[in-house]
Amino acid sequence: MGKTFVFLGPPGAGKGTQANRLVEEKGFVQISTGDILREAVKQGTELGKEAKKYMDAGKLVPDEIIIGIMKEKLEEIGDRDIILDGFPRTIPQAEALEKMLPQTGRQLDGVVLFNVPDEEVVSRLSGRRVDPETGKVYHLTHNPPPEGVEVVQREDDREEVVKNRLKVYHSQTAPLIDYYRNKGKLVVIDASTNPEDVYTHLLSVVK
Ligand code: ADP
Ligand code: AMP
Repeated sequence: MGKTFVFLGPPGAGKGTQANRLVEEKGFVQISTGDILREAVKQGTELGKEAKKYMDAGKLVPDEIIIGIMKEKLEEIGDRDIILDGFPRTIPQAEALEKMLPQTGRQLDGVVLFNVPDEEVVSRLSGRRVDPETGKVYHLTHNPPPEGVEVVQREDDREEVVKNRLKVYHSQTAPLIDYYRNKGKLVVIDASTNPEDVYTHLLSVVK
C-alpha cells in the first residue's frame, strides 16, 4: 500500500505549492479538500451551494460533510502514495481519519507541519493569484504568472476573510499539532523560506 502523509499548517503556508511538486516529480496523489470544495462550488452542485456559505466567510465546512468527501476519495484512490492537503482540520476529522485509514489498508506515515509566522501568511495570501483555467497557483511577487495568463484572486483571499481564516486556524486546527505530536507523527518544517529549500526538506521527510 502507498504512503499517506498529512500536510498541516495555516492557509497560505505553501502546502498546495509543495504538494503539486510532489505530484509532478514523485508521483504522489494530492487530495485537497479545498480544491474539491471549490470545484463543487464552480459546478453549482448541492455540496457546492452548502459549502460556499462557510468558505466565503472563512469558516470551516462542517465535519460530517468533509469526512464524507474524504471517505469517498480514499476508497477510489487505490494504492498510490497520497498527500492529504488541508485535511484533517479539526480533532473530530483527525479521529475520523484514524478509523478510515485502516479500512482502506492504509496507515498514517507522517504529519508535516508547515511552520510560517502569521505576517508571512498574510503577505502570501494577499499576493496569491490563481489561473482559473488550470488551477495553477501563482504569487504576484514571489512567483508571478507568465505573460498572457489571466489570473484571479480567490474570494477568500480578501483581507477581511483572511483574518477570520487565521483565527479559525489557531482555534480549530492548531490543536492538531499537539494531537499528532503526542502520537509521535509530527514533523515540523520551516516553511517560511524559499520554495526550493522547503521542497528539499520535505523530500527528506517523505522519501
Ligand atoms: P496553501 O496551500 O498552504 O494555502 P499555497 O501553496 O497556495 O498555500 O501558497 C500560498 C501563496 O504563497 C501562493 O501565492 C504561493 O505562490 C506562495 N508561496 C508558496 N510557497 C512559498 C514560499 N516558500 N515562499 C514564498 N511564497 C510562497
Ligand atoms: P483551502 O483551499 O485548504 O485553504 O480551503 C478553503 C476553504 O475550504 C476553507 O477555508 C474551508 O472553508 C474549506 N475547507 C477545506 N478543507 C476543509 C476541512 N478539512 N474542513 C473544513 N473546511 C474545509
